[in-house]
Amino acid sequence: MSTQKTAIVTGAARGIGAAVAKRLADDGLAVAVLDLDADACADTVKAITDAGGKAVAVGADVADEASVNAAVDKVVAELGKPTVVVNNAGITRDNLLFKMTVDDWDAVMAVHLRGAFNVTKAVQKYMVEAEWGRIVNLSSTSALGNRGQVNYSAAKAGMQGFTKTLAIELGRFGVTANAIAPGFIETEMTAATAERVGVPFEDFKRAAAGQIPVNRVGVPEDIAHTASFFISEGAGFVSGQVVYVAGGPKD
Ligand code: NAP
Repeated sequence: MSTQKTAIVTGAARGIGAAVAKRLADDGLAVAVLDLDADACADTVKAITDAGGKAVAVGADVADEASVNAAVDKVVAELGKPTVVVNNAGITRDNLLFKMTVDDWDAVMAVHLRGAFNVTKAVQKYMVEAEWGRIVNLSSTSALGNRGQVNYSAAKAGMQGFTKTLAIELGRFGVTANAIAPGFIETEMTAATAERVGVPFEDFKRAAAGQIPVNRVGVPEDIAHTASFFISEGAGFVSGQVVYVAGGPKD
């Protein structure tokens, strides 16, 4: 019987999720690379399999319960029962409060909060059965408040409460739950923000780096490294924590 663990990483077609998926595969896990469009996962899956790892592409909308349940069934059939989940899928719909629509509010809540709930709920039974599991949720420094992101910051603060409650409920089954709160990470999400505010991405990154104590912006691998720690065997006594991966202190 294979002892290889199976992980599901959501929003793993690109950006932080892709880096996390590759890192977990390097760590020896079989990885379900889940994103809205299965075809968009091809590059991440190829990078993993070319490096000798095991991965499958899974198309699902995390905000849709039926879609998530079907995706998890596919993962069980193709890779094995998942006991690691990284809730990374995310979107932004930034605007100042007075211009923000209810649709922008709901869309952000649906992907981050309902999405993490749907995926974690579908996977927890396999963790409980295995008496072992690791849940990693993507929060953000925006949880502390960020102009133009009243929806996103509320969702990312929500991810922290979600994480802490999972840690309390599931700890007795050998399951840990932790959150990573990244600062500025260079991805398509931050590139889109630069475009929205009309600043070239290189200038946007330089300005951000100037505000960060380690004097650089983050890269997806910075987050992947932290996820790798949280899912490791040795991190079994670390649960309900939020780690700000932001090149400096945040609180
Ligand atoms: P990204 O480059 O925009 O990637 C996000 C991925 O999630 C995309 O592939 C996207 O697919 C997918 N996705 C969106 N909605 C989905 C849904 N309903 N179901 C399944 N997949 C969905 O973002 P990123 O910068 O890597 O961010 C990853 C996570 O880190 C997010 O939770 C984000 O909020 C968080 N974060 C990022 C930063 C940063 O500076 N980049 C900072 C703090 C926190 P499509 O391409 O099809 O939309």
